[in-house]
Amino acid sequence: MEKRATTTRAVVLRLDDLSLPPRRLTVPSRLPVSHLLRALPQPLLESSSFYLTADGRPLLLSAPVASLPPSGSVQLRLRALRGGGGDGGATGAESRDCYLSMYLAKKPDKADPNEARLSRFTCCALSGEPLAAPAVADRLGNLFNKEALVEALLHKRLPKALSHIRGLKDMIPIHLHPKPDADAAGEEVRFQCPVTGLDFNGKYQFLALRKCGHVLSVKALKEVKTSACLVCHKEFDEADKMPLNGTEDEVAALRLRMEEERGKVKEKKEKKVGNGLSGSKHAAAAVMAGGAEKLENGKKGEAPSLKRFKAGDHAPAYANKEVYASIFTSSKKSDFKETYSCRSLPLGRN
Ligand SMILES: [Zn+2]
Repeated sequence: MEKRATTTRAVVLRLDDLSLPPRRLTVPSRLPVSHLLRALPQPLLESSSFYLTADGRPLLLSAPVASLPPSGSVQLRLRALRGGGGDGGATGAESRDCYLSMYLAKKPDKADPNEARLSRFTCCALSGEPLAAPAVADRLGNLFNKEALVEALLHKRLPKALSHIRGLKDMIPIHLHPKPDADAAGEEVRFQCPVTGLDFNGKYQFLALRKCGHVLSVKALKEVKTSACLVCHKEFDEADKMPLNGTEDEVAALRLRMEEERGKVKEKKEKKVGNGLSGSKHAAAAVMAGGAEKLENGKKGEAPSLKRFKAGDHAPAYANKEVYASIFTSSKKSDFKETYSCRSLPLGRN
């Protein structure tokens, strides 16, 4: 029989260019170097053009991990200056090539136990520290320790790749179910599905329910057909299911949704401002009309359907009708005048 011992190598992936702490990984030696990148959140890689170096020499992403120098230290370098571009440092072609070769290299080892993927389920995507409560997910399904993320946000130290996280509203609190005795045993996988008991280790799909934050395996929700959280029984919609560390397609869908929601919020805000303005105009007119009505209390019955506000009709008994009406610029239809402080539009037309 053929002996197939899996030799592994300890590699330190340095992320100085991204202002992130290094990731310590144990990777099967025969896998390509590109495998190391799977420890990083996907948006980080999509948004930057980068290359890897070891001992100052550029590395081919397809080179096997076994070929790394004895130090096992790999540096991720950004090609362009951060926030730059158009400086000749990077071309789209290079970036695309990196991206493609990375994903092309991914396929052969699909079934392998995957340390790098494991770390995305056990560690904060920003600090690299073990995930612990209180934990949050961003809107793309990356996992963080809340403290690390809030701290970075406050001090504006979030890497550009995570710029889709703009504030607390972009952090979805999640509740990870602790795996019994995992801490005591010093296990790396410390969470599991509260229903099926599947490990939160990257081998199974998990999702968070956005309303209550409970993290469940996809399997649990497939087995139990329900529209209520299996932990807290809070009702949820299909749209509340958010894949954690999802596939490329899932992340793309989440990104689209995030952009749609942002668009809607923006639209709503703009609408609100618009409404606010015209609302206050109407309110002012109503106050005027109301005031006039009060004065005219006795005559109120005469104009039961106030289709169009005519100031002249509401003039107080002691007022000159025409003068009173002239306060309201629309009383003289022939010449609407705008002054420095008053935008004159006929009432009823604004
Ligand atoms: Zn719940």
